[in-house]
Amino acid sequence: MSILVIAEHDSGQVRNSTLSTITAAAQCGEDIHLLIAGSNCKKVAEDSATIKGITKILLADAPSLDHQLPENLAEQVLSIAQNYSHLLAPATAFGKALMPRIAAKLDIEQVSEITRVIASDTFERPIYAGNAIATVQTSDTIKALTVRTTAFALAEKNNTVAVPIEKIAAVAGTGKTIFVSAQTDKTDRPELSSARIVVAGGQGIGSKENFRLIEQLADKLGAAIGASRAAVDAGYVSNELQVGQTGKIIAPDLYIAVGISGAVQHIAGIKDAKTIVAINQDADAPIFLSADYGIVGDLNEVVPQLIAALG
Ligand SMILES: Cc1cc2nc3c(=O)[nH]c(=O)nc-3n(C[C@H](O)[C@H](O)[C@H](O)COP(=O)(O)OP(=O)(O)OC[C@H]3O[C@@H](n4cnc5c(N)ncnc54)[C@H](O)[C@@H]3O)c2cc1C
Repeated sequence: MSILVIAEHDSGQVRNSTLSTITAAAQCGEDIHLLIAGSNCKKVAEDSATIKGITKILLADAPSLDHQLPENLAEQVLSIAQNYSHLLAPATAFGKALMPRIAAKLDIEQVSEITRVIASDTFERPIYAGNAIATVQTSDTIKALTVRTTAFALAEKNNTVAVPIEKIAAVAGTGKTIFVSAQTDKTDRPELSSARIVVAGGQGIGSKENFRLIEQLADKLGAAIGASRAAVDAGYVSNELQVGQTGKIIAPDLYIAVGISGAVQHIAGIKDAKTIVAINQDADAPIFLSADYGIVGDLNEVVPQLIAALG
């Protein structure tokens, strides 16, 4: 049977989270269909037709699917779910809102945040904030999976032959939820989830105004900005920048944690970072146990010096 990947996209192209999910899907089986659902999203389908590993694109394009509201999108997936052995979505806010609805309505058990495919019915997933890895085998006929995107490489977009795009009937909206507005920070910086370098600030930054230090350092390095939950709760930055167990799970080449203590819930989000640098005035802060390099000092002195040194 075929495998269905549900695309997360921005109406222009699929997000990198979708490309990682396709790589995970390719380890579950061979015939992979990519569902692109939304409103005015034909361009996404066309742009995706050369993604390696997929065999077909299903395009459901209708106003009822605008903004990919999970209530409506779940109905769209349910309309075709019986044709598939696996349903996969990224374990981002998108997939986390969508897949439980689908699994509940199909009366199957979702396997969340898989980090490895051992066999088409057996997966690894982290538990206890990443402190243990569970191996989970499912006997459900349809397997509903969300994928930890940092654990799988991006599928490449370089197929020489474009796969066919099949238009499918879009479901009507449930009418239960309507899109009102979205508030997102407009930025030219790299996307936090996929950035190579991330500079993150914690409660130690002290104020929203002082978070400018993090922005300046990030700009020097061409980095994305992240934050601890305490910094988000204190209102220094919006919660889409939160890194950790209940925020974004990231795996940059370089992660610079400034004024962050290193709580387990924060570390859960940066475990896969290749190099971690910590700046903290408390030499006993737990972040130094995870850091490859540490600077003990007042961030208000250290960060301006770093910015100056970077020229
Ligand atoms: C269920 C659950 C889920 C959670 N999920 C997340 C999550 O996803 N992400 C997350 O981050 N947290 C999460 N938390 C919260 C987590 O437990 C911590 O409370 C939080 O990470 C602490 O943030 P912080 O390190 O910024 O603040 P603090 O722990 O207050 O640390 C501030 C640090 O700044 C240092 N500092 C202060 N002033 C300076 C200075 N001038 N110069 C240098 N250093 C300075 C201090 O020494 C201290 O180490 C979660 C908690 C729970 C219970």
